[in-house]
Amino acid sequence: MKVNVFSLSIPFITNPPSDWIDQWAVQLYVKVEDGEFGWGETLVAGSGIIGAYSSVISELIKPFLEENEINSPYELENLLEKIMFSAGNCGVVTGAISSVEMALWGLKSRRMKVPLAELFGGKSKSVVKVYGSFPRFSKIEDVIKAVEISKEKGFDFIKLHQSPSTILETVKKIREKYKELKIAIDLNSPFDLNKAKDFSEKISKYEIEWIEEPLWPPNDYSSLEKLTKVSPVPIAAGENEYTVYGFKKLLESGISYLQPDIAKIGGVSKFLKILELASSYNVKVAPHDRPDRSPVSLIYVLNLALAREMEIVEYPIADFPEDLFSVPVFKNGYVKPPENVEINEEALVKYPYINKIRILHFSDLEDKLIKHD
Ligand SMILES: [Mg+2]
Repeated sequence: MKVNVFSLSIPFITNPPSDWIDQWAVQLYVKVEDGEFGWGETLVAGSGIIGAYSSVISELIKPFLEENEINSPYELENLLEKIMFSAGNCGVVTGAISSVEMALWGLKSRRMKVPLAELFGGKSKSVVKVYGSFPRFSKIEDVIKAVEISKEKGFDFIKLHQSPSTILETVKKIREKYKELKIAIDLNSPFDLNKAKDFSEKISKYEIEWIEEPLWPPNDYSSLEKLTKVSPVPIAAGENEYTVYGFKKLLESGISYLQPDIAKIGGVSKFLKILELASSYNVKVAPHDRPDRSPVSLIYVLNLALAREMEIVEYPIADFPEDLFSVPVFKNGYVKPPENVEINEEALVKYPYINKIRILHFSDLEDKLIKHD
């Protein structure tokens, strides 16, 4: 099997422009070919360390697949986790596995001449409910403008990534104008338990759908359990969880929404295991997606959502580059995905990877890294 790795920088363009223009302009794709072909995507984490992910693929997964005949994505995921377990089955390792694993599903779908959703169990619906995931904006007025534009576009549910120091004020302003809009808040792990309890109390009067990753560190399951017992607002987490055992602990902490990321955990096979696990705990799954302008891993999630039970899927408010992809069709808060990932390979040269340091000022880093006068 042939494996090709593509490092790209697809510019992150929103109206108004956000603070994360450079930080979200980093994409890593894989194409596998064996008669037919399939595409996959690894989510390179916020720090933009693309070389670490791509070298796991180039140095190990690519030669491994060239020498061994493996057609089962499930088998591939399991074998690669075992081969690399001493490097840690999380982060860079499972991220690198993800793109290759999902590309095998793409190839399988073409080989069998069936849409991805058929491989995943068959369509039970024709469209998927999504919410508009906002990047961070530097000014509250920009957030309000982005809300206006998103409402016009058809979103009735949004999620904010403003800094912990400005989020209360931002939500207050949005609520004054928009009574019906559904709002979730993503904190990206800034608080200790007491601050998180205090925040959940203060924000509860604005009728929030969920608070996402309120605690640092995100895998402090015992503090999370204490928080879910008292928080008046539902708690969501899961985008920084990797193993089935970790997800189990997260589910046992009493969270209301589980948010696995298919491009971080190891691909479709692992995602299916986690869906089953969540349903045994009666917890809703609301998958994480980096809301940049890259739809590759998202197309796999949307096709899974056509076949399986999911509450809602994270979705960008920025448009995808149509010269590069056959893109999902968004209408009134729902999305119809393409049946498989299609990429105009010749157009990839328009988005060469731009090598620079990328530090995502999310969570409370903005308050810590920028000196205020
Ligand atoms: Mg998040």
